Amino acid sequence: MDEIRWLIGASYLVAAVLFIFGLKEMSSPSTARKGIVWAGVGMVLATAVTFLTPGESTLFMPLDNIILMAIAIAIGGSVAWIFGKRVAMTDMPQMVAIYNGMGGGAAAGIAAVEFARGHMEGAVIFALATLGALIGSISFSGSIVAFAKLQGLMNKAFRLPAQNAVNIVLAFATFGLGIAIVWLGQSAPAWMLIAFFISALVLGVIVTLPIGGADMPVVISLFNALTGLAVGFEGYVIGNPLLIIAGIVVGAAGTLLTQLMAKAMNRPIANILFQPISGEAQAGGAIDGTMKEILALDAAMMMRYSGKVIIIPGYGMAVAGAQHKVWEMTKLLEDAGVDVRFAIHPVAGRMPGHMNVLLAEAGVPYEKIFDLEEINSDFSQADVALVIGANDVVNPVARADKSSPIYGMPILNADYAAQVIVVKRGQGAGYSGIENALFYKENCHMLYGSAQKAIADVIQNVKTAG
Ligand code: NDP
Repeated sequence: MDEIRWLIGASYLVAAVLFIFGLKEMSSPSTARKGIVWAGVGMVLATAVTFLTPGESTLFMPLDNIILMAIAIAIGGSVAWIFGKRVAMTDMPQMVAIYNGMGGGAAAGIAAVEFARGHMEGAVIFALATLGALIGSISFSGSIVAFAKLQGLMNKAFRLPAQNAVNIVLAFATFGLGIAIVWLGQSAPAWMLIAFFISALVLGVIVTLPIGGADMPVVISLFNALTGLAVGFEGYVIGNPLLIIAGIVVGAAGTLLTQLMAKAMNRPIANILFQPISGEAQAGGAIDGTMKEILALDAAMMMRYSGKVIIIPGYGMAVAGAQHKVWEMTKLLEDAGVDVRFAIHPVAGRMPGHMNVLLAEAGVPYEKIFDLEEINSDFSQADVALVIGANDVVNPVARADKSSPIYGMPILNADYAAQVIVVKRGQGAGYSGIENALFYKENCHMLYGSAQKAIADVIQNVKTAG
């Protein structure tokens, strides 16, 4: 039995090294694919050796457990495989949200089983199990709400009457129950445990309900970090070092990402959770000016004879899959002597790094891609800002309108360019659902059409111009 335990321990160590190495490789787009494979190999190894775990009095795990685990893996693995294969790039954030939630739910599930088995001993173990259950449950139900919002299944900024008071009362009730459970330990009654789990699940829903617009990316990232923490705590409770390591790695990476996103969005995390901005969408008529259409020919000429063009890709470019056409157009303009660069907003698209991944896939060199703070001061020297399927991330309303759901979010200063061309299909709003003041500005022109077709028309006209 000792040899088997040694083998499992050694395999877990190798798996942990593979996770960490994989994560390191994922930090650069050029090695990210390799990183995912390394981490995947670690996960397969960890899962495989877990089947060897000895039972309480047997050399190997009892057959019943092996069968149950195999069934769970077959169901979970095939559902994940099918959805992973089918999911469109633009639906990836929803998938990440739901996977995050599953991780949190699994951690809470481990805690529930450990409470029910009644084997736990010591205040520290009870405290960690309770904390993991709390965080895991919040992350589980909150991620389901995030999924529904990203999938367009529910109102993005729903607020309860007296939302903050409800949040605070429920949070106190949940924490109170958690403290009582730790205090009572083994003798905590079943009703208390059930009430604790239910109130933690409801808390996750209530906290996430009013979050919309610019805060959504930060919240998804926060749930990711929380799931990692919950898994780490439960790993300690059941004495599984690999769960502890995997949880810490996910928790630490998620916390750093959350901090970076919150900083980029100019919103402290406490404000996002307890004072979400959920302004109503403004009426279109509230903004002065009119939208002016431009034809592909004129847009092509404007850029072909410019000195500097800055391209701002957004969610619509991803939906249209237009990144290859955009790169083709960029090369043509560069051949004509135009300086073309790309400006990426931290929350452009529907997941962190969405635009960078798409542009890299199309072959755009990294040195042409600039983050918001690197390029924002250059817009005033640009002849043309070309906005392709982006909306919220260039909306000047974020600078001044305190009632707006994107107020305070730094935006790309497209409106400071001499001319702005916006490629979109029609009058559709962005994720936050509000009107965009940029589209009504004097220097802004709308090139209507799906991004792929519109850019193809521009390419044709640039070529004709020679
Ligand atoms: P937006 O969602 O603000 O706008 C996208 C625009 O693309 C729409 O106005 C739409 O207008 C247009 N569009 C849609 N399909 C096409 C198409 N086929 N061709 C051309 N245009 C098209 O995108 P942004 O990237 O500017 O902003 C991202 C938003 O998503 C932010 O509010 C952010 O907070 C939120 N978000 C971001 C996450 C992240 O991690 N990055 C996660 C969750 C939310 P029309 O219908 O007229 O074509």
